[in-house]
Amino acid sequence: KNLSSSEIRQMFLDFFQTKGHTIEPSASLVPVNDPTLLWVNSGVATLKKYFDGSVVPKNPRITNAQKCIRTNDIENVGKTARHQTFFEMLGNFSVGDYFKKEVIPWAFEFLTSPDWLDMDPEKLYVTTYPKDTDTQKLWAEVGIDPDHIYKVEDNFWDIGEGPCGPDSEIFYDRGQSFNNLPENDPESYPGGENERYLEVWNIVFSELNHLPSGKYVEQPHKNIDTGMGLERLVSIIQGTKTNFETDLFMPLIEHVEGLSDNRKYDTSDADDVSFKIIADHARTVSFAVGDGALPSNEGRGYVIRRLIRRAVLNGKKLGINGPFLYKLVPIVGKIMESYYPEVSQQQEFISKTIKAEEKRFSETLNDGLQLLNGVIADLKKDNEQVIDGESAFKLFDTYGFPLEMTVEYAHDEGMSVDEDGFKHNMELQRERARQARGDLQSMGMQDETLMEIKTPSEFIGYDHNEATATLKD
Ligand code: ATP
Ligand code: MG
Ligand code: MG
Ligand code: MG
Repeated sequence: KNLSSSEIRQMFLDFFQTKGHTIEPSASLVPVNDPTLLWVNSGVATLKKYFDGSVVPKNPRITNAQKCIRTNDIENVGKTARHQTFFEMLGNFSVGDYFKKEVIPWAFEFLTSPDWLDMDPEKLYVTTYPKDTDTQKLWAEVGIDPDHIYKVEDNFWDIGEGPCGPDSEIFYDRGQSFNNLPENDPESYPGGENERYLEVWNIVFSELNHLPSGKYVEQPHKNIDTGMGLERLVSIIQGTKTNFETDLFMPLIEHVEGLSDNRKYDTSDADDVSFKIIADHARTVSFAVGDGALPSNEGRGYVIRRLIRRAVLNGKKLGINGPFLYKLVPIVGKIMESYYPEVSQQQEFISKTIKAEEKRFSETLNDGLQLLNGVIADLKKDNEQVIDGESAFKLFDTYGFPLEMTVEYAHDEGMSVDEDGFKHNMELQRERARQARGDLQSMGMQDETLMEIKTPSEFIGYDHNEATATLKD
């Protein structure tokens, strides 16, 4: 089917509306009343109030498209086909209402029905928790090839205490020809490194409660929480190699081509990474600033600073000197306008904020790079590989290089940074010490928020003493 990203997003919401769901608008990227979270990182994060019982929803069936930021994926951006720091999560939720026997047929219907996305069911694979035979049966009943139903021990959400349960992930097979994979590539399986099988949708069945005693008991009210990455879904429907050739990113990449020193997308792997990082970070900072987070030396502000500077450095790799990222704000606004008018509406303020930050960094970038390249050249001469902490700190303090950026730059040269030495130098400047360490990771798990909620339990559930594995990602 020939569908735009806006149409696909709307189709998802419409589909769940026909199944009795209320559409909840996207919440701000800045968590409200939730000091445990730096950024909203999943659809369920903003619905915590319904799942912990502090607010009773008018309708227990909810659907949303939620903007998310995950800084833990920053190093994946441009390297994998499927990760951004900013993405949208499409979700449907049951607050103590429907459960497995509804949600599984619906997911299958949305993806494969000719009335909806019309995907070939043969391309779909699912992973399930080995003991969750209900889910395995239901997938087979709706029409997933039994050979495509995998049992994976990791498919269990559990952070040690509180609500938990099995989950099931849907993967799309992009085929042997994807990335010219060799036959029998050991990484060709759902979740494998080569990304032939793309994880697109995660469905969590929150049915148990992990007690402090270690026992698992059934929850009186079972919940459903799902999350599907819009960009991944669009890349499947639009038949692109990565999320970045979709209509969500291409106008940004094309604009960067025009600003660059005659570089073209899809001609050099190294340049492509820079194009993708810039396109991703442009979206992230546009939305973050639009939601009221401003560049600074701590917390969210430090994340924004780090992303802007990282984009500027990648711009330089493409031969772009001086501020340019701010020029992408109107394009981000235009692409996203139909569902998120906030970037277009605040375009001037967002551009101005980004431009000021770029300018601050651009002025010292060349001097910083000269220092850094000098240190690297000296080390190479001496056959050494560790950049000293003092230089790293000087780059940070005098030239505005976030430590993580220096580490990455060093890494590309096969080197590392003496991070303890950096910290030591930092401590010598006590005033700044507390500030610069504010980039707390935003967690990578969709259901982390749900997991934190502790609910009372009434029933003794089935034996789950093997289910102690926490989900590794
Ligand atoms: P992956 O294993 O690919 O990193 P995940 O298991 O960490 O994904 P979940 O926490 O299950 O992701 O989130 C639900 C869905 O959100 C994923 O199936 C995916 O479609 C989407 N998603 C998660 N992280 C990202 C990201 N960094 N960029 C784009 N989409 C993402
Ligand atoms: Mg997942
Ligand atoms: Mg992940
Ligand atoms: Mg995963």
